[in-house]
Amino acid sequence: MGSVDAGAAMEKIRAAGLLRTRGLIGGKWVDAYDGKTIEVQNPATGEVLANVACMGNRETADAITSANTTFYTWSKLTASERSKALRKWHDLLMSHKEELALLMTLEQGKPMKEALGEVNYGASFIEFFAEEAKRVYGDIIPPTLADRRLLVLKQPIGVVGAITPWNFPLAMITRKVGPALACGCTVVVKPSEFTPLTALAAADLALQAGIPAGALNVVMGNAPEIGDELMQSTQVRKITFTGSTAVGKKLMAGSANTVKKVSLELGGNAPCIVFDDADIDVAVKGSLAAKFRNSGQTCVCANRILVQEGIYEKFASAFVKAVQSLQVGNGLEESTSQGPLINEAAVQKVEKFVGDATSKGANIMLGGKRHSLGMSFYEPTVVGNVSNDMLLFSEEVFGPVAPLIPFKTEEEAIHLANDTNAGLAAYMFTKNIARSWRVSEALEYGLVGVNEGLISTEVAPFGGVKQSGLGREGSKYGMDDYLEIKYVCMGNLG
Ligand code: NAP
Repeated sequence: MGSVDAGAAMEKIRAAGLLRTRGLIGGKWVDAYDGKTIEVQNPATGEVLANVACMGNRETADAITSANTTFYTWSKLTASERSKALRKWHDLLMSHKEELALLMTLEQGKPMKEALGEVNYGASFIEFFAEEAKRVYGDIIPPTLADRRLLVLKQPIGVVGAITPWNFPLAMITRKVGPALACGCTVVVKPSEFTPLTALAAADLALQAGIPAGALNVVMGNAPEIGDELMQSTQVRKITFTGSTAVGKKLMAGSANTVKKVSLELGGNAPCIVFDDADIDVAVKGSLAAKFRNSGQTCVCANRILVQEGIYEKFASAFVKAVQSLQVGNGLEESTSQGPLINEAAVQKVEKFVGDATSKGANIMLGGKRHSLGMSFYEPTVVGNVSNDMLLFSEEVFGPVAPLIPFKTEEEAIHLANDTNAGLAAYMFTKNIARSWRVSEALEYGLVGVNEGLISTEVAPFGGVKQSGLGREGSKYGMDDYLEIKYVCMGNLG
């Protein structure tokens, strides 16, 4: 697409009618009831892109009512009718790929190439679940008495509250809303206050696609108020959340009072194990992709690169060389492969983790400080000789810092990899097939990449174990969390 000027990008988005700043309740674009707004800023420049409605409990209550009313009509449509509307939404997302990607780069900072990739990825969930809508099969169970017939029906759970983060402003929404709408549920989405514009543009396209008013509602602003309203409502039957482990735990506890179904996609602490027998080029390329995508701000980013001692020096020097080639800049520039971090707090967290590591004996092999571009840009960084007493080992850094941790044996690597409360993604690089099976089975993680650093796809189940979450998104399994199983016993048929 080439480099784009921010003003021209905003003009293109506006001309397509996709610069929405109000919430969506019952098919109507509405301001916050008290007129409050919040600024959405471009993290690369600090420029204010828009002022969006800052909503709270009252707007959320109305969005829930609207979703609840619409549930009774949307869930009664045939699967084929729901599928057609979703398919149309997918097509509209794809035909507005450039505008959506520009919006995402502007409000989130990711490079255009990654933003375009996210539109494809985000839209793929809508296409996949449009197809899955037609495959919600029940069961017939052989009866225990001759005059009975035992049936199992799968039915939509009801109104869903979906709370999403800023790092994937489109895909984290479509991964939830796709299966929910496909099953016949209706949804109240709360996007992050940092990236509401992509969510609102996508919702506009859903309306254009014929998803009925009230089936998809969007409220944003005061996160705790919106979250509380969703949790307290007896009409909301499920909460699905992607974000930090701390907020996930609050939502899980808050949902207990009304016994809601909860799906959580929380933080990771992904190990990336490079064994002595790895193909070094494959390992460097794979770890680079797993670590530096979205400037290290993804839940499946390699957080700890464990390198066996026989290959440590060779891997470290090839990896540093590869990281040196990353180009930091405004995501709207074609040459950029690393955008800014989401905000100042994110940079301060990275600084704290790097400072902690160096004070405990780790060595900076590359980077290690704020980038000369200022704002929230941070230099792609490699830190050597990291050990398990450092924050870089125990917590998710969520930034462009690759810690290298030496290890001796396969057993030690598995122990280090599993030595965390997180369990989302793990990676390994090895040419030994027996080892790849053995280690895949031993890793306490929901996703494992073998000789590959980018493994997410709409057709495979995504989700964590331990404190990384509950439930799976994407794939045929992604429908289950939005369905209830009903047993029907038909008697006296003899
Ligand atoms: P976050 O602070 O937990 O925010 C996520 C969402 O929760 C945002 O919409 C936020 O709203 C909202 N929120 C915050 N406090 C809330 C409350 N008390 N009640 C209800 N909602 C509340 O997480 P983040 O910093 O945006 O995202 C980064 C985290 O997400 C990382 O830990 C990452 O690993 C995780 N993540 C996980 C996955 C996965 O699939 N496992 C995928 C992507 C990211 P506001 O932004 O408006 O405050």
